[in-house]
Amino acid sequence: MPQSPPHPLIEIIDLTKIYRMGTVEVHALRGLSLTVRVGEYVAIVGASGSGKSTLMNMIGLLDRPTSGVYRVRGQASQKLDKKALADLRNREIGFVFQRFNLLARAPARRQVELPLFYAGVSARKARQMAQEALKKVGLGDRLHHRPEELSGGQQQRVAIARAIVNQPSLLLADEPTGALDSHTGEEILTLFEELHSQGLTLVVVTHDPDVAARAHRIVTMRDGLIVGDVTQVSSNAAAPAAVPATTTSVPQPVSEPAPTIQQTRANPCPSVS
Ligand code: ADP
Repeated sequence: MPQSPPHPLIEIIDLTKIYRMGTVEVHALRGLSLTVRVGEYVAIVGASGSGKSTLMNMIGLLDRPTSGVYRVRGQASQKLDKKALADLRNREIGFVFQRFNLLARAPARRQVELPLFYAGVSARKARQMAQEALKKVGLGDRLHHRPEELSGGQQQRVAIARAIVNQPSLLLADEPTGALDSHTGEEILTLFEELHSQGLTLVVVTHDPDVAARAHRIVTMRDGLIVGDVTQVSSNAAAPAAVPATTTSVPQPVSEPAPTIQQTRANPCPSVS
């Protein structure tokens, strides 16, 4: 019997976002639809101004769309008030940013404990969970180091530990290797692959073709719409247990013909500037 595909984790239907600046309207998203299923590893690419950050803000529940539907684990977000949105965000989504966004003076364990305090976890339990998360990212021996005592790669690992400590459904990363040298960036991408193989769903926004190439699926944006959506089989991308093999080899053309898998490997995001 054929296996049914994993459940949708995020469902975006006909989303628009219009920024109004005085009398000028900027249509940053123009009726965009996207489903990401549990266990996927997706890169979102596109030229500057194509709407990647706007989409990331929507996926991360950091901003509201002008119209359209956005569901996280089946829960529609548009009717939620500010507090319910924050709860949903804290429960389901972990963020990783280009510049790490760590507190300047706090030691690593403290940085990772913080989201747990917001979630009402006891201090003792938070300490234990933070320690485990730091161990998971390879920093079990750096619990008491402050950012200034850590390398860029280690700081990004602390940020990743902070993002995963309360076991979110989705890790949402914005140019996660953009502030790192290529070797360190490579280590971070390898860590992403490990987390992915443990069942975490990842969405990475990037303009870097090498970063995008590590994802299993590459979604290309242009002018506020998705113009390419390709699932690729990649030798260096570990297949997640949650995704059946049938979903990892089929290019999915959208509003314009998607490149073939071979083209995708050679040049995964041709429209990126
Ligand atoms: P990208 O991340 O791909 O560079 P953005 O989502 O930042 O694209 O921007 C998409 C469009 O929306 C651009 O034309 C940009 O100038 C505009 N835009 C983004 N944020 C704002 C904002 N806060 N106010 C007005 N216009 C914005």
